[in-house]
Amino acid sequence: MKSYLEEKSKSETILEVRNLIVEFKLPRGILRAVDDVSLDVYRGEVLGLAGESGCGKSVFSRAIIRQVDPNGYIRSGKVFFRRKDGSIIDIMSLSEEELRNFRWKNISIVFQGAISSFNPVMRIKEHFLDTVLDHEEKVDREEVLSKASGLLKNVLLDPNRVLRLFQHEMSGGMKQRSLIALSLILDPELVILDEPTSALDVLTQAYILDMLKDIHKETGLTMLFITHDLPVLAEIADRIAVMYLGKIVEIADVWKIFYEPKHPYTQGLLNSIPSVTGSLESIRPLSKGVPDPLNPPPGCKFHTRCQYVMEICKKVAPPLLNLGGEHLVACHLYNK
Ligand code: SF4
Repeated sequence: MKSYLEEKSKSETILEVRNLIVEFKLPRGILRAVDDVSLDVYRGEVLGLAGESGCGKSVFSRAIIRQVDPNGYIRSGKVFFRRKDGSIIDIMSLSEEELRNFRWKNISIVFQGAISSFNPVMRIKEHFLDTVLDHEEKVDREEVLSKASGLLKNVLLDPNRVLRLFQHEMSGGMKQRSLIALSLILDPELVILDEPTSALDVLTQAYILDMLKDIHKETGLTMLFITHDLPVLAEIADRIAVMYLGKIVEIADVWKIFYEPKHPYTQGLLNSIPSVTGSLESIRPLSKGVPDPLNPPPGCKFHTRCQYVMEICKKVAPPLLNLGGEHLVACHLYNK
């Protein structure tokens, strides 16, 4: 069986991540948060990235635009961004100045805590103006504010009011919607949404998901949607990649992930989701806790929690294999 990268056609990708490794220096040792991850994002799709908290999905998404916390570093790997005009940008080779121009204009990111994304002493309109000023030499204030108004209307906010507000004058849902509008001001080709709904109540969460679906439907914007909440991805994603302890363990279209999951970890995640109509007995939480990421198990990192563990699993890390129909799984059960 051929490996995923040997088989995949690269023609329709907007983002190609290859063998990315991100580490953190901690007092107890080196933590490898992203462990040799390769992943493609296709133009126009919503790719969901799922996994338990701390599995490395947020670190991965920030590393794509080289925005790693000060005690972290990108050890190795490549990230290529393919623009609409066909030109390819090697993100890891950009200078700091080129990178500053690249972010927001090509890839923008919406963080989980909208609060920390806004400067508390700046009105919302100044955030829009500042973002554009940062990337363009000549800025027509009226033009920027008119575009900002349109974007705020798209996220169902009243621009006449919101543009004048400070972040502390808005609810969590308003802030998150304003941040989504701000992330679109420079017409990026890819938006990374890092847990954009998890800090919100269920009604606001549903509202923002609907709004994102509408934006995607109308504009065809490519989205990388990161969440620990698989049911959220059932609502919006075209494909889902599942991450465990810094490794991608399964990738498939949303239907296959929910109805034909192959990796025991994906199966475990799905079995632990409560259902409104199902009985409590039908919920089967994953056994044991996540191993210490500073000292992960050898071989398959999931082997300490896997009910199908074999001898080979304890020694050899399984490669990501294509089972057909772009269903990729990293598990020795399928490595025949
Ligand atoms: Fe379980 Fe082995 Fe598959 Fe890992 S490789 S998920 S331990 S069966």
